[in-house]
Amino acid sequence: MYRQFPRPVKRLVIKFGSSVIATDLMKPREEQLRALVEQICNIRKSGVEVIVVSSGAIVLGMGEMGLSARTGGVATLQMLAAVGQTVLMNKYTQYFQEHKSTCAQVLLTWDDFDNRKRYNNARLTLLECAANHVVPVINENDTISTEEIKFGDNDKLSALVAGLVRADLLVLLSDVEGLYDTRRADKKVFREIKDITAEIEGVATGTANKHMSKGGMSAKLGAVKMATRARVPCIIASGETPRVLERILKGERIGTFFLESEEKVIARKHWISFGAKPKGEIVIDDGAQKALLKGGVSLLLPGVAGWSGHFKKDDVVVVRDSQGQEIARGLINYSVADLNKLTDRRGRTEAIHCDNLVFSER
Ligand code: GLU
Repeated sequence: MYRQFPRPVKRLVIKFGSSVIATDLMKPREEQLRALVEQICNIRKSGVEVIVVSSGAIVLGMGEMGLSARTGGVATLQMLAAVGQTVLMNKYTQYFQEHKSTCAQVLLTWDDFDNRKRYNNARLTLLECAANHVVPVINENDTISTEEIKFGDNDKLSALVAGLVRADLLVLLSDVEGLYDTRRADKKVFREIKDITAEIEGVATGTANKHMSKGGMSAKLGAVKMATRARVPCIIASGETPRVLERILKGERIGTFFLESEEKVIARKHWISFGAKPKGEIVIDDGAQKALLKGGVSLLLPGVAGWSGHFKKDDVVVVRDSQGQEIARGLINYSVADLNKLTDRRGRTEAIHCDNLVFSER
């Protein structure tokens, strides 16, 4: 039985984890990478646009510098990423050239998603590459990423990219066959998941593979949640499965397939929820919380009980209940300075319009 995708796959985002890229000795897995690039070129030739998100810079940097453990501070990691990124791109360039194809390096930070203008620019660049048969190979710009502007892991980056370009499918390749119940000895992979429930999350492992990947399965599930909410179905599969990409596109039931979320989240809401970085927080009272949970309601100023941070008008803020629990994110109509100045907060003035408010599922 073949898998049915919700729509024909015309635009595909593929994420390669570090374990797909590098050996245990931290050298490029040349044959595997070459085979994956060959498949990408075949898929590309069949008319599908392909965008790659590739990890591996730091681990290849370690291999290049003869290090065996991720030791040292941020500066060391940044140096390793700088060294390894060229090793990585050299390999991609060589393998794409073997098929007379071109790839392009695109390095992104969270700032590029936080800022709507840069977000749109990134989108245009990626689509321009695709329209010119160039395959973008994206990585986080680790050499300048500090904690504040870090995505955290490339799974999340790939989900944001998939939402950004409105991909038809996101494939996350690593060294696991898919999602499985860790309590079962046979490691039987779930073939299809409609909803990532708490139970599903409970069976996911949070551990990362040695020095290789950052996130492990829980980071992947976080990314899948993001992508499926942007209506991008996802597949988690192993990069070691022969001809994995071509077979996935044919609909073979390889790996775990996550269906897109039925709830349609429009692009702006997706950006508020996942792309933008909150600039502050507001706390609302119980009455406002009750009203909001009914849905389709704006947050009114009298319900705002407190605030913190440095937000301006139209910045994204986290909305918390009186217990401090995050319940939503939204674009605020007031700056901190405005809120501090207000002496009378009665009336029906909107602090966050309902169209700019997204409930959190974190
Ligand atoms: N950007 C990192 C690298 O290229 C990998 C981050 C991750 O494993 O998610 O080494």
